[in-house]
Amino acid sequence: MLYRMEGIVIRGTDYGEGNKIITILTPSHGKQGIVVKGARKPKSRYSSLAQPFTHGDFSFYKSGQLGTLNSGEIIESYRALREGLEEAAYAAYAAELCDRGVGEEDAGGFLFHQLKACFDALAEGKDPQIVIRAFEMKIAGIAGYAPLLDECAGCGRTGVPFRFSPGAGGALCPYCRGKDPYALDLSETAWKLLRLFAGLDLRRLGQINVKDALKNELRLAMRKWMDHHLGLKLKSQHFLDQWERLAERIDSDMRAPRADRPAEPE
Ligand SMILES: [Zn+2]
Repeated sequence: MLYRMEGIVIRGTDYGEGNKIITILTPSHGKQGIVVKGARKPKSRYSSLAQPFTHGDFSFYKSGQLGTLNSGEIIESYRALREGLEEAAYAAYAAELCDRGVGEEDAGGFLFHQLKACFDALAEGKDPQIVIRAFEMKIAGIAGYAPLLDECAGCGRTGVPFRFSPGAGGALCPYCRGKDPYALDLSETAWKLLRLFAGLDLRRLGQINVKDALKNELRLAMRKWMDHHLGLKLKSQHFLDQWERLAERIDSDMRAPRADRPAEPE
């Protein structure tokens, strides 16, 4: 049967001589695997359509598990996301979260629009750390493990200072703190932003200017949350971790007065 639908390429694997199998995330039919014949040959009409992050219109035959591309057109290539090292790292992580971090049953229209909004925001040059933290929160919500942020996950108390506990399910009040001695002590602004991310449709994300210390808090909180609940190691995560650590180091190096800098190794 011939199907036609729009989708975003969230994974690509080389297959046979010059072919590729891509996975697209669609707004209407979850994730679809499609063989793109000749995609790795330089003269192929569809090599750019099969590139990671491409938003396209795909027409394919399908009888079993995998489809075979019949024709297609690029709607938005998101080339900028493949060309910049930083953008590529964040986009690859977002795509892999959709690929491996969300089950088929949860991969609906909302996920598609959140991924597209995430790519748009990255391509527009919005702060990638903020974009991706908000996207992680969307994934947690879609996959069914959103943190409790407004009431204690232990007893339901509200209006008290909380700590953030991935293991206990989110906010922990002073009375329940003993449930997780490693719960994070976050600033009030970090809590505000986490709550903002939880309720936010990424299509409405504006420009948020956030200090580095706050970004680090958010990164640590969401990283621990995702590690605890995702239950798998993502390939793109390793690279992104290194990238974010490097960025943090360069940043603090640049701000430190000369005399405070550690001596360079000989
Ligand atoms: Zn409590």
